[in-house]
Amino acid sequence: MENVKLEDIVSLAKRRGFIYQGSEVYGGLAGTWDYGPLGVALKRNIMNLWWKMFVDARDDMYGVDAAILMNQKVWQASGHVDTFSDPLVECKECKSRFRADKIDLNAPCEVCKKGPNFSEARQFNMMFKTFVGPSGNEELLIGERTEGPDDGRVQEGMKAITYDPNSVSYLRPETAQGIFTNFKNVVDSFYPDLPFGLAQQGKAFRNEIAPRDFIFRSREFEQMEIEYFVNPNNWEEAFEMWVRLAHEWCDALGLPTEKVHELEVPAEDRAHYSKRTIDFEFDYPIGREEMFGLAYRTDFDLGNIQRASGKSMEYTVKGTNERFVPHVIEPSFGVERALMAVLTSAYRVDEQNGEQRVYLALPEHLAPVRYCVSPLLKNKPELVAKAREVYVALKKQYGNVMWDDNGNIGKRYRRQDEIGTPACIVIDFETLENDTVTIRDRDTTEQKRVATNDITRQ
Ligand code: ATP
Repeated sequence: MENVKLEDIVSLAKRRGFIYQGSEVYGGLAGTWDYGPLGVALKRNIMNLWWKMFVDARDDMYGVDAAILMNQKVWQASGHVDTFSDPLVECKECKSRFRADKIDLNAPCEVCKKGPNFSEARQFNMMFKTFVGPSGNEELLIGERTEGPDDGRVQEGMKAITYDPNSVSYLRPETAQGIFTNFKNVVDSFYPDLPFGLAQQGKAFRNEIAPRDFIFRSREFEQMEIEYFVNPNNWEEAFEMWVRLAHEWCDALGLPTEKVHELEVPAEDRAHYSKRTIDFEFDYPIGREEMFGLAYRTDFDLGNIQRASGKSMEYTVKGTNERFVPHVIEPSFGVERALMAVLTSAYRVDEQNGEQRVYLALPEHLAPVRYCVSPLLKNKPELVAKAREVYVALKKQYGNVMWDDNGNIGKRYRRQDEIGTPACIVIDFETLENDTVTIRDRDTTEQKRVATNDITRQ
């Protein structure tokens, strides 16, 4: 499907219960999204597929699940406190704020259309800061409010926040640091041979200056990250393996090969510690943008932890005296960007019986609903009873099976097409005679009669 528009996907996602604006009932909260029943099913299917491919199916991978809140020293040692920032400019006319590297600073402000009259860029740290424990976050009223500019100085009428600096923590802006900080723990418990990897899935938070493009740039999102530890002599081989696996992942998501692109990030654009980075980009409705990244991060992170904690991060090669801090290859995937690529690839419009039809051609293993089961007529108890029997059996086997007896069959098919259900099963009068049902294919709309026992072989 060419030229699918972002509005079409956003509107289907809301209408059919995939994704809603976060806190919508109160007017929303920018950069946050809530998943409805079908969205959470699709998201989990993507995350479980990833876990199956990259953890369960391999013998060199271990899963971890670290706390979101971590000791502030993690983010000091990793460089996030000092440098995890984006350049911020403010329009002096309307006070709107933008990411300086994402707008044209020589053009008028896109909000008030005046100018250009932008402030100098300053670095804005994207971590959400918080206070852990009761010592932080106390408010102290200094006096009655009078007047005066809000220039950051404490003055009469302002509330001051007092806190113990040691109570400061941050909502993690990436899951990766929760892996590095557990490297030593896993080595001590399992002593895996190199190379081996640690994998983690979970929420990450970034106070993006300008969240936009639906779930593509959110302030709260989900990551799936791997740190693959290698002997520094063998990093290139491991990097190539992950390039190959990255493409296998895209195939498993059902993304068309021609829409996935490798961008070899030039040295001047790479983080200083990275010796090689490839951004995997996808042709989204908003243009070609980063879907996930693959970076060779050397021993930067483990080296930092070793220096800051005073604890050795060295690995001893089994049966030898060879010791070194392993280097790391990091494939870093974003769930939302994968999900948006899946929806973009699956969105289709065709014509059936002279009418336009919208459907999601989702791969079977990702579809939120695997089968929909219906009685032909909902006021015929014998059809309903037989349909319930088929439904219960399939539900026991698959879990994600839906019962739908609303409206006529045509309407049911349309609804299921729009949410990407691969097959709809209808129990009719013939079923009562010979125990066969009709099974309709979402993509071709063709119907076949099959024996009830053979449904799952279709
Ligand atoms: P960008 O340049 O688009 O801001 P990034 O290079 O900062 O992204 P990384 O720090 O490499 O992103 O994060 C790894 C992955 O996490 C990204 O490839 C993306 O899939 C996901 N990700 C990062 N930021 C966001 C966000 N604000 N919303 C949704 N997903 C995100």
